[in-house]
Amino acid sequence: MPITFLFIVHRLLDSVWIESLRYFIGASGVALLCWLLATRIAHRRIQTRRATNTDRLREVRQSMWSMAVFAVVDLITVVLIVIGAIAFNDGPPVLTTILWQTAALIVMHDAYFYWMHRSLHHKTMFRLLHAVHHLSRTPTSWAAYSFATGEAAFEAVIVPLMIAVITIIAPAEPWAVFIFLGHQIARNAFGHAGFELAWPGFARSPWTGWLTTTVHHDLHHSEGRYNFGLYFTWWDSWLGTEHPHYHERFEAVVNRRETAGQEMPVHGAVSP
Ligand SMILES: [Zn+2]
Ligand SMILES: [Zn+2]
Repeated sequence: MPITFLFIVHRLLDSVWIESLRYFIGASGVALLCWLLATRIAHRRIQTRRATNTDRLREVRQSMWSMAVFAVVDLITVVLIVIGAIAFNDGPPVLTTILWQTAALIVMHDAYFYWMHRSLHHKTMFRLLHAVHHLSRTPTSWAAYSFATGEAAFEAVIVPLMIAVITIIAPAEPWAVFIFLGHQIARNAFGHAGFELAWPGFARSPWTGWLTTTVHHDLHHSEGRYNFGLYFTWWDSWLGTEHPHYHERFEAVVNRRETAGQEMPVHGAVSP
């Protein structure tokens, strides 16, 4: 494909458009769900503090900036296609390939996110790159992409690199990338939702306990020192960074009765 100035401009605009669509569907979908279920899930609100409209506006504004950064970083994908490091399957989709590639993308992304996120909590990195995300001490689904410029670049750069890795084994299935990206925004928006929708026992069950919950990431926002994982609890539990009271806090939220004390105290302050 000829790389012209016009091609680059088109590619940037396409990226911003696709990312925005994904973000607004994911973040507004979760916000709408919480709003529709407001009375039924009021007792599942995780923090006593309420996010304000100013918080939401800041999260949306910062997310829109991040999407512009994502679009620039996405130009790496073009370079990798040109040099042959990324190839997409342009034949009929193959179900087994879609399945393993989707799983591989999710597992690789989770590992990358854990280590990147943990590094961003190093003192100097935190101030420069990650403090903006932690302005959302009581996050809402709109915080999904609320990143400073540097963090947005780190968040985005892994995607073309992972597609290059799976291309080593087989041309990437566009459906695998599509499902991975849809799963990413859905889990991200739910992780910041502020309400726990999972059921009692979810965090302890061998069938579901390896999946992160909203309480898991919410504790990261309210206390900062633990729970760096994204989709799975694996890395935090392997490396001892899981919040020491994660399970109690999770059970406390999901076992509250609708009429009982509906709120949970917020402890500590955010620090790297
Ligand atoms: Zn963090
Ligand atoms: Zn977050």
